[in-house]
Amino acid sequence: MPAHRALGGTLGYQTREPLAPGSLVRVPLGKRDVLGVVWSSADGPPEGVDPGQWRAVSATLPGCPPLGDSWRLLVAFAARYYQRSLGEVALAALPPQLRDLQPDQWQRRLAKHRKRSAADSPTHAASPPPTKADPPTLSSEQQACLDALAVATQPTLLFGTTGSGKTEVYLQAAARLLHQDPLAQVLVLVPEINLTPQLLARFAARFGEHLVVPMHSGMTPAQRLGSWLAGHLGQARIVLGTRMAVLASLPRLRLIVVDEEHDPSYKSQDGARYSARDLAIYRAQLESKHGPGCQVVLGSATPSLESWHAAAQGRYLRLDMPSRVGGGPLPTLRVVDMARQPKGTVLPTALVAAMAERAARGEQSLVLLNRRGYAPVLACHACGWKSHCPSCSAYRVFHKLDRTLRCHHCGFTERVPRACPDCGNLDITPIGKGTEQLEEQVTALLGGQTRPDGQAIRVARMDADTTRQKGSLEAQLDRMHGGEVDVLVGTQMVAKGHDFRRISLVAALNVDAGLFASDYRAPERLFSLLMQAGGRAGRDASLGAHAEVWVPTWNPGHPLFAALQRHDFAAFAAQQLAERQSAQMPPMSHQALLRADARTQAAAQAFLLAARDAARNLPGAEHVTLYPPVPLTIQRVANVERAHMLLESVSRPALQHLLAQWHPVLATCRSLPQAKGLIRWVMDVDPVSIQ
Ligand code: ADP
Ligand code: ZN
Ligand code: ZN
Repeated sequence: MPAHRALGGTLGYQTREPLAPGSLVRVPLGKRDVLGVVWSSADGPPEGVDPGQWRAVSATLPGCPPLGDSWRLLVAFAARYYQRSLGEVALAALPPQLRDLQPDQWQRRLAKHRKRSAADSPTHAASPPPTKADPPTLSSEQQACLDALAVATQPTLLFGTTGSGKTEVYLQAAARLLHQDPLAQVLVLVPEINLTPQLLARFAARFGEHLVVPMHSGMTPAQRLGSWLAGHLGQARIVLGTRMAVLASLPRLRLIVVDEEHDPSYKSQDGARYSARDLAIYRAQLESKHGPGCQVVLGSATPSLESWHAAAQGRYLRLDMPSRVGGGPLPTLRVVDMARQPKGTVLPTALVAAMAERAARGEQSLVLLNRRGYAPVLACHACGWKSHCPSCSAYRVFHKLDRTLRCHHCGFTERVPRACPDCGNLDITPIGKGTEQLEEQVTALLGGQTRPDGQAIRVARMDADTTRQKGSLEAQLDRMHGGEVDVLVGTQMVAKGHDFRRISLVAALNVDAGLFASDYRAPERLFSLLMQAGGRAGRDASLGAHAEVWVPTWNPGHPLFAALQRHDFAAFAAQQLAERQSAQMPPMSHQALLRADARTQAAAQAFLLAARDAARNLPGAEHVTLYPPVPLTIQRVANVERAHMLLESVSRPALQHLLAQWHPVLATCRSLPQAKGLIRWVMDVDPVSIQ
């Protein structure tokens, strides 16, 4: 099978010698020569195929062990389940550089890799890895979980509050496994690239640097190939990466950890839209069937309702760690009623005072706002002009630092006009607030207050704009850890996972949108964000006693806050699941979303309507609800009109059955005259967001 996006299935090739399934080869495809994977091999061609039509494999990649059965089964499953071609999924699973290497280049690269790894590990690969840092003695809760994991046969949901020491459980579970099986491999998944450095450091400190490799899209192609080889050749004991790592070739995979399993980043949003968490579950089953057994652990303080429900049904084993390490309490929630604040309040006075108080004690505060830039809209009050993006149904965001208007959807950037482009009014004003403005305002509000050393309070900002340059994220994290920052303003990216020791106050702004959003998953996200954010506060037990989470809101009576105040995820989940049950929504039902992009909204919808009519006539369609096509919330991006239609069924197999039959039909719908102008269609199975 040539690894190529556009190919549906496998192609036939001849070889002189039989090749093992999973072997990497170079094959001719049209006029090109591309990387391929031997999917299956036979002595002769299948009946009715003329072997004379088959071209010959051009070369093999010498010294490369074939990809394993379970890897191929995983790729095949992912392709089938997510409605993509085998070639595309295989391609996504292999390091990009592998595609370009000719056999001689490959040989040199492999030799270099082997030489380097031999230098790295003086010990024989089969001896147990040296334990570097001394592991701490586990708390009784941690120990109980580790003991339960030793005998667990199901996927395990580690429900541990923030700071309960889940990572330590992963570390010791990995250590125990490697002690039993020195050749075992462990896969640790994290939701975001920026969480890898810290966790990588912890694993490397425990297991030794050369046994732990990272795997994520922020690495150079050469680094990615190096990590992939270390995994594929069985040299790496621990592979730590983002969702793409779930497809890594790990011939002796025995343990998969999915940290922060609730995080929507585990669902890919382009190409094959797979869920790394769901594939991890599937992969563990496959590896167990074809090898010595593989466990999977999902960890979270706020599990996805899918996993929570699976545990309630007994499909997953739930292990609880309700206490923080060292016994520190969880932070107190302070819900501030904005209706009682003076009109135009940016930050409640009491909150500003609380931040100043902390800074005066040498403690840190974190202020979260999930909107980067200075202001989301720029407007002219004289004529009503707003900073629309010409190509999208969205506003361009005002960035003050470089005085630009930037569209966060299509990237279109222009300098801020001096005057209103429509009426010439000089007084165009920002509406609403982003992190850039918040940083400015917090700095102003805290002006005149000092730190213990008598210096002014230092405010910093961390978001996608400040961390774009290579190394800048690490530098900013270091400054934060080093106590050089007193108040950090940032987007969600700082709320997740970081182990900041000196934060004793977290404020989350603008949360009301999450309470009433049209997306039914919004409350789940908000709860988890606030819980995660709170998890940043008071991680040091000495600060824990007065750690606080502040939430300014116009809806202080919302039940979500009541559950959060009690740190009662179970109550929140029960309430949400009851709602999902009564509305027959996931996880009680299963969904797929067919999206169409077209030159016009009419064409997008016409294609979807035709597709819907066609689906109705397929056998088994009565078990699936086909909703009418609707435009996306942001209907137009980069001059492309977007619409989608939802499919839903209480039966996953029924939905899968329909999708499999539907797939070839969609190609015919595309050529209908009313769908003229259709650019592409995309299937999203188990979508995490329907907007
Ligand atoms: P979580 O992943 O649940 O948020 P971590 O595993 O990061 O929690 O643990 C929080 C902090 O507690 C870390 O700094 C970790 O080193 C420390 N820690 C974890 N377990 C123990 C233990 N048994 N004894 C002492 N410190 C621990
Ligand atoms: Zn104007
Ligand atoms: Zn745009």
